[in-house]
Amino acid sequence: MGQGLSCGTSQEHGLFRAVQVGDLDTVEAVLGREPALLHHATVYDRHSALHIAAANGQIEILSMLLGRSVNPDVLNRQKQSPLMLAAMHGKISCVEKLLEAGANILKFDSLHGRTCLHYAAYYGHDDCLQAILSAAQSNTVAASWGFARFVNIRDGRGATPLHLAARQRRPECVHILLDNGALVCASTGGYGCPGSTPLHLAAKGGSLDCIRELLAWGADRVQRDASGRIPYVVAMKHRHGACAALLNPSSAEPLVWPSPLKFIGELNQEAKALLEQALMEANREREKSILKGTAYSLPSPSPSHSDVGVEDNISEASSDTELCCICFEQVCTIEVQECGHQMCAHCTLALCCHNKPNPTTACLTPPVCPFCRSTIYRLAVAKIRNYDDTDSNIGDISSSKLRKSRRSQNMSEGSSSFKGLSAVGPFGKMGGRSSGRVAAENEWVDDKP
Ligand SMILES: [Zn+2]
Ligand SMILES: [Zn+2]
Repeated sequence: MGQGLSCGTSQEHGLFRAVQVGDLDTVEAVLGREPALLHHATVYDRHSALHIAAANGQIEILSMLLGRSVNPDVLNRQKQSPLMLAAMHGKISCVEKLLEAGANILKFDSLHGRTCLHYAAYYGHDDCLQAILSAAQSNTVAASWGFARFVNIRDGRGATPLHLAARQRRPECVHILLDNGALVCASTGGYGCPGSTPLHLAAKGGSLDCIRELLAWGADRVQRDASGRIPYVVAMKHRHGACAALLNPSSAEPLVWPSPLKFIGELNQEAKALLEQALMEANREREKSILKGTAYSLPSPSPSHSDVGVEDNISEASSDTELCCICFEQVCTIEVQECGHQMCAHCTLALCCHNKPNPTTACLTPPVCPFCRSTIYRLAVAKIRNYDDTDSNIGDISSSKLRKSRRSQNMSEGSSSFKGLSAVGPFGKMGGRSSGRVAAENEWVDDKP
């Protein structure tokens, strides 16, 4: 901001300097002497005091200025609003204050035709991004536009906020945008190489985390840009070897978040977090084999058996009654609401993702409960039955058992070396070590819709 502060009158200079460093007393004194300065701007960039306060995160001064009814949408030379500058510099309190003051989220700068949402995504400020998206849900401007259209808003060269976040290696922003309905396969106009998808741009940026997120949301590895290149080629060209391995169309398809399913959209936060975690864990297990260069489709002999700690945990959990009856390895954490049958998060996901490798080709019929074959309309976090330890009816044995299952549940959720491979086994290509149960599982696995 410094270069914009020179020149002008000394009064002006004093004001802008005081705003920049957050000297509220001086700002008030100067404005007391010369109230008209409130509407002055720096000579070159045409930054107002509000721009300078927003870019420097001077929330007290920003609030004071807004309190004096300064227009929150005042623009600088490049038609940037204070909200854009606050989002660019990650000044979340200023972003919130400006949104509260009714700042327009649909302003486009004259530099690249970008909005505040582009700024937050490009610079990777996920808190600001989230604040703007939350405002957009209640904001009348975005309502007239439609929220989905706002999330996928394009800049002057056709880049959506998701394109920018993927290119700039911002996995948290990529996640938030996808979660809010950003189109995973949108191609740019002229931004980057023409026709690039977010996956092309992530391949160019070389962020494994971004690629992982995009693939889990169904990004297409064989979609071509305008020059006919798939993301794999882009990653190879930029020498991002690990990214290229995941993007190689011949390597294993990751599990894809079954977002087209209605009940997935209606999950409560806790159940959603459990399933998302299970999905990322399962995909990481696949990645390990891909990155090692081993074919993951080969039956893998007890993937994490070397981990003694986990083994202990598993055998302890095995003595409990709440083990998932599909994989017999994970604790039940998810419940089908109508029938009350319980499964672990990994089996639930495998069930929902099965036969749906890509949302663009996915059929939208909901899966059925593997135990009673009723259609799954709603999932919830499994209630642990008789959890109350003080209940005298339970007695000593069962309450110690319940404590134990609680503990093993926590441990298995926190463990990085979970046995996702065999949990996925009955549905996917992996055999795992579940051969003893295959017959029972095949009854409903073979019965594909
Ligand atoms: Zn299971
Ligand atoms: Zn059921």
